[in-house]
Amino acid sequence: MRVSAANLGFPRIGPRRELKTATEAYWAGKIDQAALRETAEGLRAMAWQRQKAAGIEVIPSNDFSLYDQVLDTSVMLGAIPEIYRAIGPADSLELYFAMARGRQTKGGQPEAEGCIHCHGAGADVPAQEMTKWFDTNYHYMVPEIAPGQSFALSTTKPIDQFNAAKALGYHTRPVILGPVTWLLLAKSKAEGFDALSLLPALLPVYAELLAKLAAAGADWVQIDEPALVLDLSDAARAAFRTAYAELAEVPGIKLMLATYFGALGDNLETALAMPVAGLHVDLVRAPEQLDAVLAGARKDLVLSLGVIDGRNIWKADLARVLDIVDYAAGEREIQVAPSCSLLHTPVDLELETRLDPQVKTWLAFATQKLGELALVAAARNQGRDQVAAALADNAAAVQSRRTSPLTNDARVRARMAGVTENWTRRVTPFAERIRRQQAVLGLPPLPTTTIGSFPQTAEVRKARSAHDKGELDTAGYEQFLREETERAVRWQEEIGIDVLVHGEFERNDMVQYFGEQLAGFAFSRAGWVQSYGSRCVRPPILYGDVSRPEPMTVAWWRYAQSLTDKPMKGMLTGPVTILQWSFVRDDQPRSETCRQIALAIRDEVVDLERTGCKLIQIDEAALREGLPLRRAEWNAYLDWAVEAFRISASGVQPQTQIHTHMCYSEFNDIIAAIGAMDADVISIETSRSKMELLDAFIDYKYPNEIGPGVYDIHSPRIPSTGEMEELLIKAGERLSPEQLWVNPDCGLKTRKWEDVKPALVNMVEAAKAARAALA
Ligand code: GLN
Ligand code: ZN
Repeated sequence: MRVSAANLGFPRIGPRRELKTATEAYWAGKIDQAALRETAEGLRAMAWQRQKAAGIEVIPSNDFSLYDQVLDTSVMLGAIPEIYRAIGPADSLELYFAMARGRQTKGGQPEAEGCIHCHGAGADVPAQEMTKWFDTNYHYMVPEIAPGQSFALSTTKPIDQFNAAKALGYHTRPVILGPVTWLLLAKSKAEGFDALSLLPALLPVYAELLAKLAAAGADWVQIDEPALVLDLSDAARAAFRTAYAELAEVPGIKLMLATYFGALGDNLETALAMPVAGLHVDLVRAPEQLDAVLAGARKDLVLSLGVIDGRNIWKADLARVLDIVDYAAGEREIQVAPSCSLLHTPVDLELETRLDPQVKTWLAFATQKLGELALVAAARNQGRDQVAAALADNAAAVQSRRTSPLTNDARVRARMAGVTENWTRRVTPFAERIRRQQAVLGLPPLPTTTIGSFPQTAEVRKARSAHDKGELDTAGYEQFLREETERAVRWQEEIGIDVLVHGEFERNDMVQYFGEQLAGFAFSRAGWVQSYGSRCVRPPILYGDVSRPEPMTVAWWRYAQSLTDKPMKGMLTGPVTILQWSFVRDDQPRSETCRQIALAIRDEVVDLERTGCKLIQIDEAALREGLPLRRAEWNAYLDWAVEAFRISASGVQPQTQIHTHMCYSEFNDIIAAIGAMDADVISIETSRSKMELLDAFIDYKYPNEIGPGVYDIHSPRIPSTGEMEELLIKAGERLSPEQLWVNPDCGLKTRKWEDVKPALVNMVEAAKAARAALA
């Protein structure tokens, strides 16, 4: 049978982030609604056109969103919490963006860009909660539901966008988020409320939507149920059966049930038992499931094979892909597709003019991936010899990546082979280390410090961009940075902070700054990927063996330390976080790549120590978010992730104090791994939960030192001395006061000096008061 090339979703931000520009201009009142809608329409039309031109036969619609597809779904279903309802009708932008970003009637708009945590802070109507979409770096707005909730089809977005495509001559397959995944992602304020109990109320709305799509002329609908790759309860599996027994009945519509981000695993039987017309499976993350899928699938089930990686930027090995397709094809109808929506990849490699030309030949962004899909379909339908030249080009690129010295650095390989157990642990146990560290550092009880960055003011960003554009020479830029650093150091001394930081003014980003100095990384110019709303990130591309040609932070540390007699912390990003926030090579296990980064960071740690640095912080902000979706895989991940951290931290003398910082909230289920990291000091986020997040450490009897954040940096609010003192006393009563450090929840780069200054003055006062109270 013929194989067709299908797509599951295209990036919506536009090749040059046109959507970001337009939405932010709209929020700032610079353009009106009509202009925003016009930009959006243009972007959709361009995406359809690109897909058609590339040879994609099954083109999605309704994959576009002005902010987030989960929010679109919630609004469409009428799941609009009471506080937003007065703002406008369900299909108004006012209501939509209020749910997305919060709404402020006085004092201007919420920040357009900033720390993800600060999103919507300080608004009269808060934004909906936001969290990561499965294990991606895309964030969705968490649906809010309540017991007894009713639903009603409240917008017609999928139908409108199907019609808009039709008017332009494209017959599309609308994409909608399925009811079970939507419910499983939803949260309720009512304790213990079972979201799935709302399924019967929800299904008629989905049925109505499908009927309307059929009436508009749609024949297939892609219904996304990525929850099928998670560990599910029996109740959730039953909900799937109920839902699809009903929805598959809607006349005139065939459902392509899309699963992605992993294997169906123990949900495979459930998925295959549903009476849907098609099933999409992720064969990039889970190639091993193909046999079971083929064996169990009905003969008339259309299979969509996710063979092109929708999560990464490498050219596919098309010969391998074709072998898989040949293997799967037979009597059954097959589609070839990306593993998931291409939302998670940048739009177009053609815009990259400054990438290493060799590295560029190894890459495929969303547009290029469409071409790969079309080529696979053509090779299968017309025969490989009909597209021999294109296949040969692909094979040459794949071969060049495999054998290039850029991906095979003999020195790195040799060093990796020589890593032994000894590299992964500090020889001296913590109890002895801390004694020696205290003797060297002579800090008071409850020492005060901060997490690293100080406000990245408009001046700092202006100077950086002037330097990037060549308008400010390097000497001038560095002079400016030295002045900023000196001011920050003087000020910390003045208010009496015990362990100082240099402020990170020279860093554009905590991963990029290191990636730019490490061998094995490339940086795109336009490789933007949506993170949330108008916020986009440009992940570094880790293509080769990683090493550190030169010290990366030593000069700045030395300068900062030269300004003061107080101890200056060295400040590094950890290997897991660098891995997690980059596009990484797929030709070796992530664990191996992570270990290479760990060795590079270890070199920096050792150099900092050699230069006289006595406290070195290695941030692992992303350690927890790297957890696999399935619990059964957690331990394997935690083992190598913790080991990578330990490799980076274990090259120093016992008297050198290693700090780490993590800014997420849930530690309960990974506390043993946190303990195994064996950092001398960990700082964590705890202030918003009033120290509740410390419970995991208390229950675990965490032995090392710990700085529970007492200042919530996610809001401009200035905490009082009294409240921070209270938090410290609370922490000191439950842990031992000798273990405690005093610090904010996270770095201060997104805050303003006018908030930071009084807050830290209060924090130092609170530490003094708590020292007295706990003495
Ligand atoms: N050192 C970094 C900073 O202070 C840590 C940020 C983070 O963990 N997200 O900005
Ligand atoms: Zn943090």
